[in-house]
Amino acid sequence: MSTIDFGVFIGRFQPLHLGHEHVISHALERVNRLIVLIGSANIARDPRNPFTYAEREAMLRRAFRHEMAEGRLIVAPLDDHLYSDTAWVAQVQRVVRGIVLDHGNHHGFQNHGISDFRVALTGYGKDASSYYLKLFPEWENLQIDSQYGTFSSSHVRRRYFQRIPEVPATILPASVAQFMQEFMLGDVFRRLLEEAEYLEAYPAQWGKGPFVTADAVVVQSGHILLVERGGHPGKGLLALPGGFVAADERIRDAAIRELREETAISDGKGQIPPAMLASFIEDARTRVFDAPTRSLRGRIITHAFLFRLPERRKLFSVKGGDDAAHARWYRFGDLSPDMLFEDHWAIIEAMADL
Ligand code: NAD
Repeated sequence: MSTIDFGVFIGRFQPLHLGHEHVISHALERVNRLIVLIGSANIARDPRNPFTYAEREAMLRRAFRHEMAEGRLIVAPLDDHLYSDTAWVAQVQRVVRGIVLDHGNHHGFQNHGISDFRVALTGYGKDASSYYLKLFPEWENLQIDSQYGTFSSSHVRRRYFQRIPEVPATILPASVAQFMQEFMLGDVFRRLLEEAEYLEAYPAQWGKGPFVTADAVVVQSGHILLVERGGHPGKGLLALPGGFVAADERIRDAAIRELREETAISDGKGQIPPAMLASFIEDARTRVFDAPTRSLRGRIITHAFLFRLPERRKLFSVKGGDDAAHARWYRFGDLSPDMLFEDHWAIIEAMADL
């Protein structure tokens, strides 16, 4: 047996393909135990992330049934922190430490710390998305060569989400191909396919950007004001009130305009006028959110404004308007990241200090 105690392999596996399977099989030959961390576990489905954590865990379980049953392959979820690599790295360190020390406790190494175990980050230095391999200098590097270098999950998704959907079975484990065939028959697939077609047509209609948008993070007495998206992309998901900045307006004016249009926010005496809404903005908290991958529509850079409304027993009244289906107040405690559109959870987390 190898002297590397734990390998760590991080990926999105959207979906798991033969390239991933090859890396995992070969890593298992070189380490005592392999920890596979499934990234982007907490986000809503979209055509780039069509499968939930549970579905991706099941893909790994079917492909590596024995290894998982024996505890040689351990799978755990990882949440994205789009605007903080530090938070993401801390999470990886914490999850790996938990698994390693738990294993140590079960095998008579109660007094051991993580540094008593040899840990190696496993990977295949394919492209820029593997940059995180450099974020963990404390771990050894275990690169696995692959004869499947040209396979990619994005290639699989492109063929899946097209007018005549196709499951490219020759580059997938048989059980994944079968799961994707079955998934194709459901409503979720139909919604994702419609969204993929909408996104495909987007650049021809609107251009590639960069676009500038404004979003309103409106908080009052432990609640946040959100709208349910009525159309693609993200139909049915919750979003911050906001939208595209018009050619003749300032960005903060766009945030106020969109907030009024989408929620008709009123204080009981009537719709709140723009100047009064502006007085609720905490200027010091205004922030740009610009992750290049934040929207599948193209390069969209948003400016978020924090509107802190006075604490009251009765929240300001709101109703849906414009292209949003419903505007409603949500208790912070009732929300989870997978209910939110694009990076809006990350924006709320950062702006409202969650
Ligand atoms: P992926 O599924 O595309 O790839 C996973 C691994 O498989 C990579 O090491 C890749 O090089 C390897 N691989 C891909 N194709 C291969 C092939 N044909 N043959 C052999 N190996 C192959 O996943 P990913 O997109 O790299 O996943 C990274 C995850 O980490 C994502 O979920 C991302 O969101 C997360 N992440 C998050 C943050 C943050 O939130 N701040 C920062 C960094 C990474």
